Amino acid sequence: MSNEFSIDVDFVLDTKLMKLDGKTSQRKIRLFGCACVRRNWPMLTQMYRRSVELAEQFADGKVSHSDLLQAWSKAERVAISKYKQKCARAAASWCVRPQINAGGTARSIAGFSAQVAADWESERTIQLKYFQDIFFDSTSKYESELQFPCKDETVKRIAIAAYDSQQSPRGELDGHVFGALADALEEAGCTIDEVLNHCRGNEPHVRGCWLLDCILKFK
Ligand SMILES: [Zn+2]
Repeated sequence: MSNEFSIDVDFVLDTKLMKLDGKTSQRKIRLFGCACVRRNWPMLTQMYRRSVELAEQFADGKVSHSDLLQAWSKAERVAISKYKQKCARAAASWCVRPQINAGGTARSIAGFSAQVAADWESERTIQLKYFQDIFFDSTSKYESELQFPCKDETVKRIAIAAYDSQQSPRGELDGHVFGALADALEEAGCTIDEVLNHCRGNEPHVRGCWLLDCILKFK
């Protein structure tokens, strides 16, 4: 890939992340960070892997604020000397910060995570795809057309299965389940190309995916 591409993807991603301030939830930022950090799984010790899992559970309201605080204080205490491990662990510990601000936090986690990757450009490109999956939210554009299909029981059941289909240690969700989701949405009367293509395309989905959040009423 050319240098021009490298500058483009860096600039585009950083600019988009900084524009998130005040426009998205802490949950979505945390899930974006966890998806980036999961790509560095081999560089993380058990304690940091647990921190990332706990951050995801906190984002989904499954663990308490005090559990998060405990994980954060443990994560902040460890001193590391090797540069790449330092970056991987810094990114993981940002995920369990009790308070995260949108643009700055997302940018730090993505930046540290990309430092760990073998190829910076490829990593930033994947991060941009995760960004698009979570934050390119078309819910408001199709609010009325999606209302009825999103109430369909089969659609909701498959959306839950998709959310739970995380391929650990990678944070990506199972694309096959999204294929089934597209079929169910169509059966329920959805004809919106952008929505059906979001399910049937080859781009990755992670927790925080705008379409799943729309169906499952997550913010
Ligand atoms: Zn998605």
